[in-house]
Amino acid sequence: MIILLKKEATKKDADVILEKINNEGLKPLYMPGTERIVLGAIGDERVLEKLHLDSYPIVESVTAILTPYKLVSRDMHVQDSVVSVGNSKIGGGNFAVISGPCAIESYDQLLKTAKGIKESGAKILRGGAFKPRTSPYSFQGLGLEGLKILKQVSMEVDIPTVTEVLDISDVNDVEEYADAFQIGARNMQNYRLLQAVGKAGKPVVLKRGLAATVEDLLLAAEYIASEGNVNIILCERGIRTFETATRNTLDLNAIPYLKQHCHLPVIVDPSHGTGIREFVKPMAAASVAAGADGLMIETHYDPTIALSDGKQSLDLDGFDDLMKYINKFVAVVNS
Ligand code: PEP
Ligand code: MN
Repeated sequence: MIILLKKEATKKDADVILEKINNEGLKPLYMPGTERIVLGAIGDERVLEKLHLDSYPIVESVTAILTPYKLVSRDMHVQDSVVSVGNSKIGGGNFAVISGPCAIESYDQLLKTAKGIKESGAKILRGGAFKPRTSPYSFQGLGLEGLKILKQVSMEVDIPTVTEVLDISDVNDVEEYADAFQIGARNMQNYRLLQAVGKAGKPVVLKRGLAATVEDLLLAAEYIASEGNVNIILCERGIRTFETATRNTLDLNAIPYLKQHCHLPVIVDPSHGTGIREFVKPMAAASVAAGADGLMIETHYDPTIALSDGKQSLDLDGFDDLMKYINKFVAVVNS
């Protein structure tokens, strides 16, 4: 429910209404704007109807939020949200590229890759320490040792980081060693994990599940937001369809849809979206043209020796070439 107060309403008027909402066991939200105070109430709307807030003299209007997700809805927050990962910003006109290897393999591998991507303009370093591999016999990541390498390289190269958290028991370690959590596609509907990162203090890159609708993605984001953490970046990374020519089908429709319905930044991962190195650059450009706030690109200083996803990883020259190309699209979108 969104409660718009009249122009003359004061913070004291708002507090009276917020208390009533709270007393009904609903979550009250105070959202002062430049001209008006807007209040929110999250929870069972039937309870709210009994309060008859629309009959209060200081209330201009009461509107139901019709979407099943509330906190992440554009109705609740008209402006684009800006999410900070370390000192890098994404959203609200801040375009940022996240890049790095699929998996952290060694200190030298990550350092070489991090230096290269930063020089080409990447703002955030990625790299998995816990890898959700389709086969249990594939490289599973370096675990805690990988997180320590990530932190060390981050400090040396002066670039903030994001890394995937696979399990609730690793949330504290990931929060200690990285600047943002990544929730992978396979865990988008792991609601206990979503609640755990929702209680944590660092931003979350939430990747769309392999068979998730955009509404499923928004409801997964709502799980995180409802625990208090609204610093969420949504990531389209391709979905499973009948098409097998590419690893996944990159759903570019998701970008305008998510941006229309939700205030959170939206980024695209064309590396997992296509699975084919040569397709990453054109689909990155298409994502920018469609309004993405950023990209996630897998890069390895030598993809031929990568322990995972080498086929879709760019080398440092390839990444530099991609950055030069997409910057033209960023300029067009901003013009
Ligand atoms: C990744 O980013 O390395 C990854 C495993 O991605 P996804 O969860 O989208 O498959
Ligand atoms: Mn990968």
